[in-house]
Amino acid sequence: MDARGYIEEHRGEFVAALKEWLAIPSVSADPDRHGDVRRSAEWLVRHLERTGFPTVEVWETPGLPAVFAEWPAADPSAPTVLVYGHHDVQPADPAEEWDTAPFTPVEQGERLIGRGASDDKGQVLFHALGVRAGLAASGADAPPVTLKLLIEGEEESGSPNFADLLRDRRDRLRCDVVVVSDTTMWAADTPSMCVGMRGLTDCQVDLYGPDRDLHSGSFGGAVPNPAAAMADLLSGLHDADGRIAVPGFYDDVVEIGEEERDLIARLPFDEAEWLATASSSAASGEAGYSTLERTWVRPTAEINGMWSGHTGSGGKTIVPQSAHAKLSFRLVPDQEPLRIQQAVRAYVEANVPDGVYAQVSFSGPGVRPCASDLSSTAVRAARAAMSRAFGTEVLFTREGGSGPEADLADILGAPLVFVAVGLDDDRIHAPNEKVEVPLLLKGAESAAYLWEDLARGA
Ligand SMILES: [Zn+2]
Repeated sequence: MDARGYIEEHRGEFVAALKEWLAIPSVSADPDRHGDVRRSAEWLVRHLERTGFPTVEVWETPGLPAVFAEWPAADPSAPTVLVYGHHDVQPADPAEEWDTAPFTPVEQGERLIGRGASDDKGQVLFHALGVRAGLAASGADAPPVTLKLLIEGEEESGSPNFADLLRDRRDRLRCDVVVVSDTTMWAADTPSMCVGMRGLTDCQVDLYGPDRDLHSGSFGGAVPNPAAAMADLLSGLHDADGRIAVPGFYDDVVEIGEEERDLIARLPFDEAEWLATASSSAASGEAGYSTLERTWVRPTAEINGMWSGHTGSGGKTIVPQSAHAKLSFRLVPDQEPLRIQQAVRAYVEANVPDGVYAQVSFSGPGVRPCASDLSSTAVRAARAAMSRAFGTEVLFTREGGSGPEADLADILGAPLVFVAVGLDDDRIHAPNEKVEVPLLLKGAESAAYLWEDLARGA
């Protein structure tokens, strides 16, 4: 039997298993649900054991448990693949906006509705189906690559213990390629591979002038105004072309290559529709880049909030004592959050007037950006495997958001490949999350082909 035939024959079992898992409310952000996160890990352990993985373990962290599984290839010289995903889910709030109970999964036609259906339990589970389908097709009793799974339990809470877990377990996690199944495709009829995610760092800028609000008649016009200084600082963040004017900001930015640029341009992107989704009447950004390029392959400096002086009703004639702003920066390869933090701090310090004192506080070390090497064997093989499963060409996308993926690549020293079949309209993190079951089955089929191709060195 070929892989596709096996998958179709086992669709019912697959959906039944996924429904069972989705019924466990593994919300990592809710301390009352931490017992459920553990139950979710234990459910996955049993499922992977039944799938045939000879090694399946719960890995404890100072927070919530991850699951590790390993199935060695028959041929010890075969490559090793590590699949990354997560078994925790977002909270279901606001519960009243769900049409069905979030943790009582419901099938509607080809869809399965429930928290975690797309992000990320459905996408983790298709790997169990995929490996069985590959075995059914080959007649072998072990996969063609050594297959490892690392499924964390704190992704929706910012993966606070994940980097340490990777460092502590580096030996057992050793691999030649990391496959991430936690992203989306362009559309059900336009399959695509994510090839990068942006990084992130954010800060608060506080400017202090006089040590109290001053009477603007007695002092105004003769002392520096912190609100005006903040306005200058913020308006200077971008130049007339929409480029970020912080010195050194672009030093490590890798320009997008022609192949990726062409593939992005071929995506059926409707800017008017996109603007409607954004409830915005105009697009804007860095000159020389398309809207998709601006959100995927270019860094940003965003003002998230600002406040100063009198904001209540009526007037108040003061020179305010202080001004405040919250800023965030989406980063692209190879920008380092810590270098960007230094550059932003230097920019602020160089641009406040005498008599104004500046304080810049970053919320943490930030998240590093990541990208796949498009010329690598792994990306070529994954693209070919997905194309074969979907029966059509696979395009490239990126994600504008940020996740722990860069840690996987850096700490394990292996390239990243994204093989995922979620959709942007799956309403992940929102009420009525769903997944398209046929796409999960394509994911399983893609994985079955990919392990064969990687084993052959294709
Ligand atoms: Zn996710």
